[in-house]
Amino acid sequence: MRKSLIAGNWKMYKTPGESVEFVKSLIENVGNHTDRDILVCPPFTSLHAVSRILSKSSIKIGAQNVHFEDEGAFTGEISTKMLIDIGVEYIICGHSERRNIFGESNQIINKKVKKVANAGMKPILCIGEKIEERERRKTFDVLRTQLQESLDGFKDTSLLTIAYEPVWAIGTGKNATPEQAEEVHLFIRSVIEKMFNKNVSDEIQILYGGSVKPDNIDSIMKMQNIDGVLVGGASLKVDSFCRIINYKI
Ligand code: PEP
Repeated sequence: MRKSLIAGNWKMYKTPGESVEFVKSLIENVGNHTDRDILVCPPFTSLHAVSRILSKSSIKIGAQNVHFEDEGAFTGEISTKMLIDIGVEYIICGHSERRNIFGESNQIINKKVKKVANAGMKPILCIGEKIEERERRKTFDVLRTQLQESLDGFKDTSLLTIAYEPVWAIGTGKNATPEQAEEVHLFIRSVIEKMFNKNVSDEIQILYGGSVKPDNIDSIMKMQNIDGVLVGGASLKVDSFCRIINYKI
């Protein structure tokens, strides 16, 4: 059976010093797990220091964004080449905050996921509907378009993770019910199986993200088609992140 993935997205929180203290404490408190992978995605400025500490543990490290070129006149941007060099393995692509605050389109995200995989790294493609889209019963249409456009020409499914993050559930304290998430995960799996023309359930993990907390993680992880979670707010404190990592089904 494939391992689950419990990922923390720290967004724009924690200085390098705070990040180092956090991961040292995480290593001490997290316990041993053979059936689940643990991933932290600190801000760019903390990646190098955190990567050095995590290299002695099984906890994985990811970045929250990347540019799709290797180098060039792109002020303020960071490339896969720079991230590989400091030991980064995963990269979150197309988080709804990147889409909605920074205007990233499916076309830009498509260039990023392809670049990440071409570099041998693992993209975590985020997709999700807004509340008005759900209310107009457009959830499946929106997700299908996001998948088809963001993964156009993408080939290496063994590197890909998808995170279903309904925008209305991110940072709002209002999570999708496990049943709502399960229904969408089944839909996502059916779309990607058609797109890649093969059974991808052994390769592509589909994570749920949106107000995951210690008190809802067990019921979320009980769902058959939920392979892990992407956690924002509740990944910022060692005790709540450890409780999420130590989910019981
Ligand atoms: C996220 O940032 O991906 C996220 C899911 O945030 P939160 O857990 O705070 O809703």
